[in-house]
Amino acid sequence: MAADQFDVTVLGGGFGGYTAAIRAAQLGKRVALVEQGELGGTCLHVGCIPTKALLQASELYHQVAERGEEFGIRVSDVSFDYPRVADRRDGIVKQLTRGVEGLMKKNKIEVVRAHAEVVDKGTVEVDGRRLQSQALIVATGSEPKALPGLPFDGKRIVSSDDSVMAGEAPKSIAIIGAGAIGVEFATFYNQIGTQVVLLEALDRLVPTEDEDISKVVAQMFKRAGIDARAGVKVTGADVHDKGVTVHVEGSEDIQVEQLLVAVGRQARNKGIGLDRAGVEIDRRGFVTVDHWQRTNVRGVWAIGDACGGYLLAHAAVHEGIIAAEDIAGLQLHPMEQTLVPRCTYSHPQIASVGLTEKEATEAGHKVKVGRFPFQAIGRALIHGEPNGFAKLVADADSGQLLGTHIVGVQATELIAEPGLAQLFQGDAWEVGRNIHPHPTLSEVIGEAAMAVDGVAINI
Ligand code: NAD
Repeated sequence: MAADQFDVTVLGGGFGGYTAAIRAAQLGKRVALVEQGELGGTCLHVGCIPTKALLQASELYHQVAERGEEFGIRVSDVSFDYPRVADRRDGIVKQLTRGVEGLMKKNKIEVVRAHAEVVDKGTVEVDGRRLQSQALIVATGSEPKALPGLPFDGKRIVSSDDSVMAGEAPKSIAIIGAGAIGVEFATFYNQIGTQVVLLEALDRLVPTEDEDISKVVAQMFKRAGIDARAGVKVTGADVHDKGVTVHVEGSEDIQVEQLLVAVGRQARNKGIGLDRAGVEIDRRGFVTVDHWQRTNVRGVWAIGDACGGYLLAHAAVHEGIIAAEDIAGLQLHPMEQTLVPRCTYSHPQIASVGLTEKEATEAGHKVKVGRFPFQAIGRALIHGEPNGFAKLVADADSGQLLGTHIVGVQATELIAEPGLAQLFQGDAWEVGRNIHPHPTLSEVIGEAAMAVDGVAINI
């Protein structure tokens, strides 16, 4: 079979894959992008974008229905029209998908829409064609992990893929796993009136976040009426006509209409011939890469969820840019997982970058910490959101900022600033000297930075 020649073939057209394709094209490469589904991948079709569209609607509904009076706004007959909300969600996804298609044309990237398999490190077979290239970027993403004995059926036992695309809500739901997906869906369902039980195996909610953040999330979930339990062991579940009975060790069974399993995601890199090319996969199923996203096989790179690290769209994008630049012979900067901001769109929102206080101490730093509550930020009170705080962790000797942790209103919009400070290897002191406009929520970062040296002003 004759092969079509490219400089770069990207396997997977998610946010990471199509970004890598664009960057490679910008650098003068002839690029093929192979995608078996829709351009935009998990993030655009069953992840970031549609879930946040749902959460935006649930928050607005909740604000008006439950808190309108508090703001002096009187409304009657407010309802959550799920089909309309779903239409809006789908409209946003469609618009963005068209945008990605346009970007592919603009950058003269050849998009091949079919399932591809790697024949050898330089060759991919797809739809009866062979694509040959000097560089292959594996960007095949990930999929929800099921629990043993609880296979997804799309109706009673569901994954986030099912929940995000639903057109109606169950009256009650149990969610297993209080990571990003678990707490976001707990927020969404709680805000629209579904009874939520959240079950986390480890001893606190959002266990990878700073411990102080978990405490605020637990308090606020409790106040919102979410039955959130940490340190629980789910021993099984039975599906029946009316719903699901969930068995939890040491406590009564839980009866719900639906069970959402949100216990993590697994890389989608089996059955695509990576073994034929000799690409190394670690014991957790992720492709092994170095700081330039290179695999153990010369000529093969991997990015995004396929190679682990933080399974976040913006991390994949960044890794895609690094891989494309490396292929073009530019080693501008290596991938640094500690500089990936983590954003969770629950209520309260959570955002963090860098090391937690505990991680910094374990890494051998003597740390100093600055913390400032939203309670003392005028703009937060205007939002009606006084809960939560920003916490900055710095090296006690040098003052260098090592980590930032925010829980509360618009935390996800506030994390980019300390992220940049960390990229620039800045000191907490310098973040405090950055002039934060008033009245904005960003003042919480400035005050927390000043608090590192014990000189916060408004407390
Ligand atoms: P996760 O790894 O973030 O959290 C899974 C949670 O499930 C963990 O806290 C774990 O302790 C718990 N768990 C595992 N097995 C359990 C069991 N048997 N019983 C009870 N609890 C159990 O995974 P996720 O929330 O499914 O998200 C998957 C990936 O997608 C993550 O990497 C996440 O960062 C990413 N994601 C991010 C966002 C965001 O940043 N806003 C949103 C969605 C997904």
